[in-house]
Amino acid sequence: MIFSKWWSIPGALAVLLFLVCSTDAQQPRPIDEITNLAENVYLFRHQSHQAIFIVTPAGVIVTDPISPDATAWLKIKIAALTDQPVRYVIYSHHHNDHISGGSVFSETAHFVSQQAARPKILQAADPDIPVPDLTFTDRMTIELGGKQVELIYTGKNHSDNSLVVLLPQNRLLFAVDFIPVETVAYRALPDAYPDDWIESLKQVEQLDFDTLVPGHGKVGTKEHVRLFREYLEALRLAVSEQIRHGATLEEAQHQVRLPKYEPWQSYADWFPENVAGMYRYLSQQAKK
Ligand SMILES: [Zn+2]
Repeated sequence: MIFSKWWSIPGALAVLLFLVCSTDAQQPRPIDEITNLAENVYLFRHQSHQAIFIVTPAGVIVTDPISPDATAWLKIKIAALTDQPVRYVIYSHHHNDHISGGSVFSETAHFVSQQAARPKILQAADPDIPVPDLTFTDRMTIELGGKQVELIYTGKNHSDNSLVVLLPQNRLLFAVDFIPVETVAYRALPDAYPDDWIESLKQVEQLDFDTLVPGHGKVGTKEHVRLFREYLEALRLAVSEQIRHGATLEEAQHQVRLPKYEPWQSYADWFPENVAGMYRYLSQQAKK
């Protein structure tokens, strides 16, 4: 009896461990998730999109609302954290997959974007995307409840109106779609300005912060800005060499490999598209 018990313990542990691990692996990631990044600063994730929000004693500052589904849930979660209303909604750039759904906050909030985003949002005329009533060209500071929020335009990159949100007190930067963390760029660089993008990243490298929060994927550090800039530079150089040797787009896609970046997220799927985007951009630039 004693022997059988003694022998059964490792067996039971193994079964238990297997169950724990397998349920863990099978557990679907929740659609919506809120995690605490710093004091009163939260990461809000909805499917593959994410944004930050800041709770202060004088109101809440929300960045990209993401979608109506996302904000329906977010509004409830914010109300559980504070009785203060949302005072500002900051749009990172005009792409609607990041900024839809803010209308649930329109009774109490100002909507903020970089200047060039406004006409595009106006033109889209989407009732779920309130038109910004506050815009700026280079820099804007929001001070609310003792919290300082710097909005900075670092030039064209993934769009012509991407802003970064800098929280100097938390040494944290939120930047969407143009500084992915150890991830290649999105598909064929739609809507992008690759040369300005590289310059824009150099400007971000001059800012003072430690934590980098992107609009998709894992949270990183300031170091990831340089790594992504070096990736874009390497991509640009490799593709421009192909063009110089008269390679067609298909040949360039076949030839260009950047093995250093193979471990990065989405390399297998998007790297050939990144090559295509850069190829089209550089070919057009050469004609100018
Ligand atoms: Zn975008």
